[in-house]
Amino acid sequence: MSNPTTLSQFINWAAEQLQQNSDSARLDAKILLCHVGHYSDVDLILKADQLLDQELVSAYQQVITKRQQGTPVAYLTGQKEFWSLALKVTADTLIPRPETELLVETALTLIPEANCFDIADLGTGSGAIACAIAKERPNVKIIATDKSLAALAVAQENIQRHGLNNISVVQSDWFENLGNQQFDMIVSNPPYVASEDKNLSEGDVRFEPDLALTPGTNGLKDLKHIIQQSITHLKTNGYLLVEHGYDQEQQVRQLFKGTTKSGKNVIPTERRIMQSDSRRAYKNVSCLKDLNDKPRLTYAQMT
Ligand code: GLN
Repeated sequence: MSNPTTLSQFINWAAEQLQQNSDSARLDAKILLCHVGHYSDVDLILKADQLLDQELVSAYQQVITKRQQGTPVAYLTGQKEFWSLALKVTADTLIPRPETELLVETALTLIPEANCFDIADLGTGSGAIACAIAKERPNVKIIATDKSLAALAVAQENIQRHGLNNISVVQSDWFENLGNQQFDMIVSNPPYVASEDKNLSEGDVRFEPDLALTPGTNGLKDLKHIIQQSITHLKTNGYLLVEHGYDQEQQVRQLFKGTTKSGKNVIPTERRIMQSDSRRAYKNVSCLKDLNDKPRLTYAQMT
């Protein structure tokens, strides 16, 4: 290709550069040019024959090099669309996935339109799930937690950016700092990829925080913790919804079915309400498939 000079030629050039490293090379090239040049989608068409100034060219070349080296587009633009909300993302947060919209969609079918409803979003990351639910249901009250303060700062920015006044953020390792609070609904997209999974060394996930992706060698560790501890933290008939790996459906179902509180390994603040928990169990356990027809979400109701 002769040296690019116009906007459309630069897109062609960048798409070619990214061909080897991205399966959405052309789209990446366009998104990144919009980002560095402050263009809209329409500008890319209307201004196709415009010449790019040198400053813009070098900024574009720099992001294209980073993309070639594997940095996800969302970390380069600092933004990702989820449930029609433009969310800030940084390397401290997972990049929200389209399949997680299934969790939001399902939660919304279970949340009454008008009533007050207490929800906990555990491991909120960028706040994607909490923001989407809060936006759709202004009457709910959401506590969004994360172990990572850096992630919570991003969640807080997203909450403010979208003017949501029904979410509060709490730094907490799962339920650790939530005391005896009980909820009508608990939602979570916890880390569920086993640390030896080869997918962790490929593509965008290489740049995402381990804390958000993997609980260690056993991909079910955090799911198990959340399913067991939620027994204490759900109100009667409250719902727990968890995202999980496509190959974890049976094990997750087993965790929901097999879970009764033994009283062992329970943190002291929870012990008081534990006495009445020994007969609590999950009912109506259901698993739903994602856009790719893979089992992705399991939810159930507390007795
Ligand atoms: N769905 C993500 C992936 O496959 C993992 C997200 C998570 O662990 N919660 O990479």
